[in-house]
Amino acid sequence: MYIYTSEQIKAADQLAEKRGMSTFSLMENAGCGLYHAICPYLSTNQKLLIASGKGNNGGDGIVLARYLKMAGFEVDLIFPLGEPKTGVAKQHLHYYEQCGFPVEEWNPNQTYDVIVDALLGVGAILPLQESLVEWIKWMKSMKATIISIDVPTGISSNSGVVDQNAIKADYTFSLHGYKPSRFLFPSSHFYGQVEVVDIGLPQKSNWRVWTEKDVQKSWVKRETNAHKGLFGTGLLIAGSHEMPGSAALAASSAMRFGIGKLTVNTTQHASAIIGPIVPEVTFLYHTYEELVRSEWKNRRFTCAAIGPGLDPTDDLEKLVTYLLKQNVPLILDAGAIQSRSYPRGEKPIILTPHPGEFSRLLQLSTKEIQENRIELASEYAVTHHVILILKGEYTVIAFPDGTGYINTTGNASLAKGGSGDALTGMLLASIEGNDCVKAAVLNAVYIHGVCSDEWVRKYSEHTFVSSDFSSLLPMICKSFEK
Ligand code: ATP
Ligand code: MG
Repeated sequence: MYIYTSEQIKAADQLAEKRGMSTFSLMENAGCGLYHAICPYLSTNQKLLIASGKGNNGGDGIVLARYLKMAGFEVDLIFPLGEPKTGVAKQHLHYYEQCGFPVEEWNPNQTYDVIVDALLGVGAILPLQESLVEWIKWMKSMKATIISIDVPTGISSNSGVVDQNAIKADYTFSLHGYKPSRFLFPSSHFYGQVEVVDIGLPQKSNWRVWTEKDVQKSWVKRETNAHKGLFGTGLLIAGSHEMPGSAALAASSAMRFGIGKLTVNTTQHASAIIGPIVPEVTFLYHTYEELVRSEWKNRRFTCAAIGPGLDPTDDLEKLVTYLLKQNVPLILDAGAIQSRSYPRGEKPIILTPHPGEFSRLLQLSTKEIQENRIELASEYAVTHHVILILKGEYTVIAFPDGTGYINTTGNASLAKGGSGDALTGMLLASIEGNDCVKAAVLNAVYIHGVCSDEWVRKYSEHTFVSSDFSSLLPMICKSFEK
């Protein structure tokens, strides 16, 4: 499922027109598609109101009203902002009236079971104008089921910005594809249940949602004669006296997710805690300086992850700089996420900030980050030539080639210390277990989320802890094997 900015939708509209598809036909497709998508949620004994705006979003509402009326639904069509201004919407209104259907005046005393919000679409300019606010307040008092077309009125399409009077929909039917605000904050919480309606526009976006089918298709089965050397010889630099658990969680997830061999560079104290949890790993106890001096060359590590449970110090930064030159897949998390430049090697460099870490990196507030997660992550990935995984609800995964993905698995049970460390370990294993870097990264993020989804299917969301990944991964991974 693809994600389109308002500019991309406009460009797709223009391309369609250039190729001979009239805007009138597109509006007809939209209204007809909406009718078929919405119908299963309606019953003929309900009273419906369609509130159309003056633009093309309103035009879609007019076509929808016609289809519903023709099917025998009781529908009132109103124009709270005044009658249509665009040529095609006017044309559709003309046809609607020629079919013998009237336009109603807004009657505040009338009650409705379902209200369709076809007021403002992707081109909306916020804040909402005063005349609309009064109508929205009335609408909210109705307690009807609210269905928004494309984006709920009062939220931005491209960013997470929300007007204080925005409509909170129960359902949103988005045309052609998702809009970025569906996955941004706080806007995503205004969409309700979302469905995409295909209207026959050309062009695909370079952003989309990674799905279960994608994971199944890209899942790698091991050859029968496989040996451990094929699945990576990883170095995990993590865990400190105060935070030994970070390394334990990352290491156990890496082993469970299939890494061939793993060495953990940590403190003696931390290893005493990690060892009993993950007896499969070996240990190094080097300072960052010692690691730079000798270990890398001697050990022939094929991939590395650094950062969980580590403080950002100058010495750590020197080690990261050194690792960046080794031309192996490298995952940078927590203390290793710092502002720096990156070499343009062919091996992936993966950064896994949560919104707080990304806000420190970009020196923007977390509000600004959350409202523009997709754009900012993409910009960073392209500019710095890294893979950027911006964590949280709807994790954003941006690639240096300008493509990007949204992850829809996972839930608030993951909002607990340690879950990010487990992801780092899974990424380390995944990157060595799949030749396709994109699939490796996306599958790790996806399955990390599925573990928590599976947990809340059975247990309370409060009770998930990151040690549970270890027992969930075997069953979850099995479900993706062909
Ligand atoms: P810290 O880095 O602060 O020590 P941590 O490493 O345990 O803590 P994060 O790095 O923030 O935590 O990672 C948390 C993980 O949980 C990420 O993968 C994130 O996407 C996921 N997560 C957190 N909250 C949610 C949520 N509400 N919905 C879905 N996923 C979530
Ligand atoms: Mg973390």
